[in-house]
Amino acid sequence: TLTRKGHRRSGIFVVIANVGALMSELGVVLGGSRGIGWAVSRLLAARGHRVTVVSRNLEAAQAAVASLAGGEHVALRCDVSKEQEVHETFQQIQKTCGNIRYLVNAAGVNRDGLLLRTQHEDMMSLLHTNLLGTMLTCKAALRSMLHHGGAIVNVGSVVGQKGHSGQCVYSATKAGLEGFTRSLAKEVASRNIRVNLVAPGFISTDMTAGLKKEELIQGVPLGRFGEPEEVAQAILFLLEAPYMTGQVLVVDGGLRLTM
Ligand code: NDP
Repeated sequence: TLTRKGHRRSGIFVVIANVGALMSELGVVLGGSRGIGWAVSRLLAARGHRVTVVSRNLEAAQAAVASLAGGEHVALRCDVSKEQEVHETFQQIQKTCGNIRYLVNAAGVNRDGLLLRTQHEDMMSLLHTNLLGTMLTCKAALRSMLHHGGAIVNVGSVVGQKGHSGQCVYSATKAGLEGFTRSLAKEVASRNIRVNLVAPGFISTDMTAGLKKEELIQGVPLGRFGEPEEVAQAILFLLEAPYMTGQVLVVDGGLRLTM
């Protein structure tokens, strides 16, 4: 019989080197229907975890769930910028799926444009989705994690660290996430909840589909855009790294070195 720590059973001492990999935990991925979030969902499912995929478009979340290995995955519709929707969604997750072990905040939007031309509505959309949305989902998930521990990874950006012309508000949301991540890490460490952040560079997803790739890769030392799976690997590492909290892991092909 496999046991959590290594107990004597019928005179046989069983040692489990990596119990975590054998247990099916619940991972909730906001923005799991596409791009980086979908790649994280696939990796979590491939490791035998149950995944709840959340996005505004339910059909897209359901299609993402249908592509995952294993069978105990759930798709939910929720706009992370809406407090009541987040509250109800996490209540539903707790009721139907159980305690959350992993939370990944990959829901995000971008609106490029000089500050002088940025509409108030777009500013609010960026702030409410990228920054407030992550705060709301972390708060909601903590209620589930407080008694059992857990791990959270938020998705920032290299532009949150270095800034970028045409991305004032977007980069502010991503810089804000770093402060939020570090503070929350301190707040919940005593409950065995870890909070970290990945800061991707240019990654090939819908969000970057309209960019001039050939031009932009000139500034990337590795000479290419990253793939969503390459960010997902870093996210999975942070979810599972037992002695890391409050950290920022940059996944950018060296872009920040040149910014
Ligand atoms: P995509 O546009 O490919 O996917 C975004 C995901 O977020 C979708 O699943 C989308 O689903 C969901 N989403 C957007 N708004 C909301 C909302 N209000 N509520 C719930 N879900 C929402 O983006 P990426 O995968 O590229 O980006 C993921 C994260 O990584 C973002 O935070 C982005 O800022 C960050 N990032 C991306 C980089 C890149 O180069 N791609 C670089 C640096 C950071 P739906 O539309 O159905 O709601």
